[in-house]
Amino acid sequence: MRIEQLGDGEPEIAVVGGIHGDEPCGVRAVEHLLEAAPEVKRPVKCIVANEEALAAETRYLDADLNRVFPGDPDSDAHEKRLAAELLTELKGCVSLSMHSTQSYTEPFAVIDENATFAKSVCPSLSLDAVVDASDFIDGRLIRHAEVLEIECGYQGSEQAAENAITLTEEFLTAVGALDGERSPTRELPLYRLTRLVPKEAADDYGVPATNFERVAAGETYASIDGEELVANEPFYPVLMSPYGYENEFGYAAELVGKLGSGRVESEAT
Ligand SMILES: [Zn+2]
Repeated sequence: MRIEQLGDGEPEIAVVGGIHGDEPCGVRAVEHLLEAAPEVKRPVKCIVANEEALAAETRYLDADLNRVFPGDPDSDAHEKRLAAELLTELKGCVSLSMHSTQSYTEPFAVIDENATFAKSVCPSLSLDAVVDASDFIDGRLIRHAEVLEIECGYQGSEQAAENAITLTEEFLTAVGALDGERSPTRELPLYRLTRLVPKEAADDYGVPATNFERVAAGETYASIDGEELVANEPFYPVLMSPYGYENEFGYAAELVGKLGSGRVESEAT
């Protein structure tokens, strides 16, 4: 794990890239920040988490790091030891953690329903949406630390790296580490994941549905070897892609309201 610092003193703010070794966008953002070395008003801890997996250009070596928190310092598995180390480093910090997906080009946040900090910062960032993943975050960093987790864009894309750089600056401005105009607060649609959308073993998958766009009952949302899968009831696809996950297309979600101005407004779906 690479750990550097901007500014003097004990940091209460951290920026984390490279939780997954095949998602370079957050690493690019951390490196950009260290190279730019801006004058900070509060010290910032800059972390590249899984250097070993990054070097191997793979998501993880022994276990998916973002599924094994709080980890175990005595484990044989590299990522379980790393999870414990990372939690220790993030103790006392509010943090930004950057990921990327195979399903969506625009940035969105993934939060726990009790994440007061993450909810308060989201409306100051250039996000498309906020996803409450409360029922699906066992073992993930956001369940164990004050972390805002962002999916910055399509895995490996230049756009995801540029988004990560922008989001890092916006985050550091929002928490008072960087001088500058805080972006205007926006209202963001808030979705809640309700279930996994499974896929059977096959050779060929398709996802005609667009993430965050409502699928109506009777609409085709995916295909397996050319056979169309039709929705029984309406839902919002989230993190859905043909090949992003082994056993699922992604998730079905409901639109639960809007996040912004520090309050959640409910809205009929
Ligand atoms: Zn990731």
